[in-house]
Amino acid sequence: SNYKASEDRYEKMQYRRCGKSGIRLPLLSLGLWHNFGDKDNFENARNLLRTGFDHGITHFDLANNYGPPYGSAEKNFGKIFAQDFKQFRDELIISTKAGWDMWPGPYGDFGSRKYLIASLDQSLQRMGLDYVDIFYHHRPDPDTPLEETMGALDQIVRQGKALYVGISQYSAEDTAKAAKILKAQNTPFLIHQPRYNMMDRWVEDGLLNTLEREGIGSIVFSPLEQGILTDKYLNGIPKDSRAATQGSYLDESKITPEVVNKAQKLNEVAQSRNQSLAQMAVAWLLKDDRVTSVLVGASKVAQLKENINTLKNLEFSKTELDEIEKILLN
Ligand code: NDP
Repeated sequence: SNYKASEDRYEKMQYRRCGKSGIRLPLLSLGLWHNFGDKDNFENARNLLRTGFDHGITHFDLANNYGPPYGSAEKNFGKIFAQDFKQFRDELIISTKAGWDMWPGPYGDFGSRKYLIASLDQSLQRMGLDYVDIFYHHRPDPDTPLEETMGALDQIVRQGKALYVGISQYSAEDTAKAAKILKAQNTPFLIHQPRYNMMDRWVEDGLLNTLEREGIGSIVFSPLEQGILTDKYLNGIPKDSRAATQGSYLDESKITPEVVNKAQKLNEVAQSRNQSLAQMAVAWLLKDDRVTSVLVGASKVAQLKENINTLKNLEFSKTELDEIEKILLN
């Protein structure tokens, strides 16, 4: 590999302790949900990972079904890892997940022991790794006993296939139940991965309190509301945007005049802070130190750099916060 990692990478990032654990995570982490599949540009994917690591982003987040097609983000990450990052394995926190639809039949979805253990074995093979740092149950399964799913997470740790475990999209109530089971098993329950951004604030109503009480960290996904909390939709829908992409989870119909109007007003506040809207949206999440890391996506290196530059201004005045609150409530 011709990759030379930036030598001052750790001076460019800040790290926050993940709950009451020994792990510190970068304030920004990089997610591989989009932009790393077989349909995406491989060199661009490589440059995103290099740019992240060069700026101290030590955490890359994957899942079994990221792509498309399913599995291809892990496979492409594995290729890039082997070429560029193998020498840095011990400087990296790599996560993957299982819990959503992955393969046909009754054993490739939800939360059975059968599914989780088989899926992680497949993920490790695709990525060319011996273990992941964090393995998540990707979403709650109403039909499988929590004891079974948490038991599978525990077994995975005992097998040495993951160092820590996490859960994603679990309610505050289910999180407390899961924490109790994991504690009884002595399973290292590191982190919760919920959705959280200025326009989706459900975690403020209980989950963050539960996590703090249990000593568990959080890494929040879709912090930019998939791009809505950036300047990209202020003047229409760009052709290369996620909203214009068929089969993505951001439908054009979500870019309503009301949403754009809100983004425009937020953008004015951001500009008065000498920040872009994306940067203000990230900083706004980080003002709560129960948020360990903000898990951004990026389709372009310039976006990732912009998002990392959030670190230049993380402070909010009371007036700014009130103004933001007023815009969001309207
Ligand atoms: P974001 O809200 O950060 O959206 C990322 C998208 O926003 C980019 O792909 C890009 O879209 C656009 N964007 C990012 N930065 C900028 C910028 N500076 N200016 C303009 N546009 C920008 O997060 P995601 O929804 O992608 O989620 C992030 C990660 O969270 C995922 O990769 C995954 O790891 C995780 N996740 C976890 C889930 C779970 O259930 N646990 C569910 C969803 C995500 P564009 O293509 O339009 O350029």
